[in-house]
Amino acid sequence: MSQRKKIVAITGGAGFLGSHLCDRFIKDGYRVVCLDNLITGSLKNIEHLLKDKNFEFIKQDVSKEIRIKGPVNYILHFASPASPIDYLELPIQTLKVGALGTHNALGLAKLKKATFLLASTSEVYGDPEEHPQKETYWGHVNPIGPRGVYDEAKRFAEAITLAYHRTHKIDTKILRIFNTYGPRMRIRDGRVVPNFIYQALHNQPLTVYGDGKQTRSFCYYSDLIEGIVRLLFAKTTGPVNVGNPDEFTILEFAQMVIKISGTKSRIVYKPLPTDDPKQRRPDITLAKKILKWEPKVKLQDGLQETFEWFKRSMNGK
Ligand code: UDP
Repeated sequence: MSQRKKIVAITGGAGFLGSHLCDRFIKDGYRVVCLDNLITGSLKNIEHLLKDKNFEFIKQDVSKEIRIKGPVNYILHFASPASPIDYLELPIQTLKVGALGTHNALGLAKLKKATFLLASTSEVYGDPEEHPQKETYWGHVNPIGPRGVYDEAKRFAEAITLAYHRTHKIDTKILRIFNTYGPRMRIRDGRVVPNFIYQALHNQPLTVYGDGKQTRSFCYYSDLIEGIVRLLFAKTTGPVNVGNPDEFTILEFAQMVIKISGTKSRIVYKPLPTDDPKQRRPDITLAKKILKWEPKVKLQDGLQETFEWFKRSMNGK
């Protein structure tokens, strides 16, 4: 194992985004240490990397003390349940990884003098009253609602990240991720993209929650990964929004899935979950300016690729 390679530790490295980050840093010539307790991540996402001499997997709950031997140059903290269904089922783990997990990952960054990047979220804006959302907006969050466990954990994570930056002079970056989709999402994770694709593939009705007029803006994973890498090496602490500003109603999105899949499924309406944000669209002026980044993949194209991937993986190929 070459000692000259820079070392990147990725918490949640076996998850959807974490595993794509592992791929990216291996491809770019880094050594990657992937930490994951596999409660929502999967070994399947990283199995192609397990034999790579520059890749190491450690099964670890980062809410408990993290120990890594030798140097670490960069820490990307992505460990967390990330779908509303997951944080309803795992409320305490979600709070712990956002709070204790972030504290532990920052402690490691301090010890190793590493650059630290926090995967934060558009959920810090809650059900936003400002639209589109700029980084300067403080948000509209219900701390005691069902989503509060995730929203408040990530808000705490942002606060402790900046506290470590100010107190211990750690190089930190905060990334606010908006809805992202693509291969390696869990088909049953409950989020709208896998749900609609699963339903379309099984000719089941697509379940639109509420009247379907709520909006989301979907970013393809490859665009997001590029934004993350640019922020890691940028001279800013952030927070920086990274997402796709093309906004759709959930009903429009359901119709797009029906068209792309050619399914016979119709649409059925189900109750809107508590505190479901009515609208969400990132203002990416800051990312364009300081990261020279903007998304390239249109929803139509990313959705087509994601649909094909789910179809293949459900057929076991
Ligand atoms: N949604 C839906 N049907 C589903 C799953 C989700 O209509 O089967 C809606 C959900 O109510 C929300 C939007 O799609 O308004 C996005 O939900 P998701 O769980 O993907 O993520 P969120 O952006 O709410 O965190």
